[in-house]
Amino acid sequence: MSKKTVFLDAPNVGNLEKRYLAMAVDSGFVSTFGPFVQKFEETFARYIGVTKAVSTQSGTEALHVALHELGIGEGDEVIVPALTFVATANPIVYVKAAPVFVDVDKDSWNIDPREIERHITRRTKAVVPVHFYGNPCDMDRIMGIARKHGLAVIEDATESLGAFYNKKHTGTIGDLGCFSFNGNKVITTGGGGMVVGTDPKRLEHIKFLVNQGRDETRGYYHPEIGFNYRMTNLEAALGLAQLKRLNEFLNKKQVFNALYREELSGVRDIRFQKEYRGARGSWWFTCVVFERPVDLPTLQKVLLGKGVPTRRVFTPITEFPPYKKFKKSDLAHSYDLYERGLCLPSSTLNSEQDVRTTAREIKRFLKRGL
Ligand SMILES: *Cc1c(COP(=O)(O)O)cnc(C)c1O
Repeated sequence: MSKKTVFLDAPNVGNLEKRYLAMAVDSGFVSTFGPFVQKFEETFARYIGVTKAVSTQSGTEALHVALHELGIGEGDEVIVPALTFVATANPIVYVKAAPVFVDVDKDSWNIDPREIERHITRRTKAVVPVHFYGNPCDMDRIMGIARKHGLAVIEDATESLGAFYNKKHTGTIGDLGCFSFNGNKVITTGGGGMVVGTDPKRLEHIKFLVNQGRDETRGYYHPEIGFNYRMTNLEAALGLAQLKRLNEFLNKKQVFNALYREELSGVRDIRFQKEYRGARGSWWFTCVVFERPVDLPTLQKVLLGKGVPTRRVFTPITEFPPYKKFKKSDLAHSYDLYERGLCLPSSTLNSEQDVRTTAREIKRFLKRGL
């Protein structure tokens, strides 16, 4: 007998996506040129409240071109949280700068502004705050520190489409903001990303960079080394359909997050991510941390047996061989959240009943463990 499965982070694509993809195919524009690319960029920019957005093939590329645009390079240091997906740090190494890993705050799970300030040196050029799992960072304090020390801020908003901080979309507060449309993110283009910012000149230049640094007014003329990071018309067609359904997705994520909090509220020793004042999370993922030691691998196995997949919180990047040589500080909270945190099913394909089932099975396991 097949059990109904709960989805961890599966994408939600349907008829609208099919229709837009068919339009792209029928038009003959399937590659890096075509009307959907411009439409997707314009609609995205309008949605998050900036004048211009530039699409890429991934969030990683968006971060890479953002660092390149801001002139970050050899000899520079860039402060990042240790607790994030590895793609926050890799682009810093691509531009030959050095990531400096600092700890996160134990309540929000986001980069701790005090740790940023403590690690600024003469070489520090930028900070890359990550709105972890869709929870906005303490951007007022981060921007204050950045201004005081003349640092650039690139927001890694790859997990936080739809989240707000002081009524502004995450990704629109720093110098540049980067989004991801990978299959498991809030919306997907199959694979893709976006760079946004409030300085139109800078965004124009990024558009030029991702197009092989081509000066189109002079044909195939390339005054700078660029990148081939252009989104295809097929991907943009998918993205535009997803963007039309974004409110539906965000509503579900909000409801799921609130329901998890409610269902597990009676359980001692379970904590959720806390929002800063003025922040509203989009809850790409709802995650919990167990205050008391829990055998996570066993819990995961038991849940999976009930058709409920889960995922551990990311391993601190400092654990990976290529990153052992870089500067790091005391990362107690990062390690703590990694060791005791768990990401719960958050796909918008799920129903509220799936969330209740997940919460019930967690409670059952904890009770048995006592
Ligand atoms: C997904 C993600 C990225 C990279 O996005 P891709 O589109 O997969 O390249 C970067 N940083 C964080 C925190 C992410 O979760």
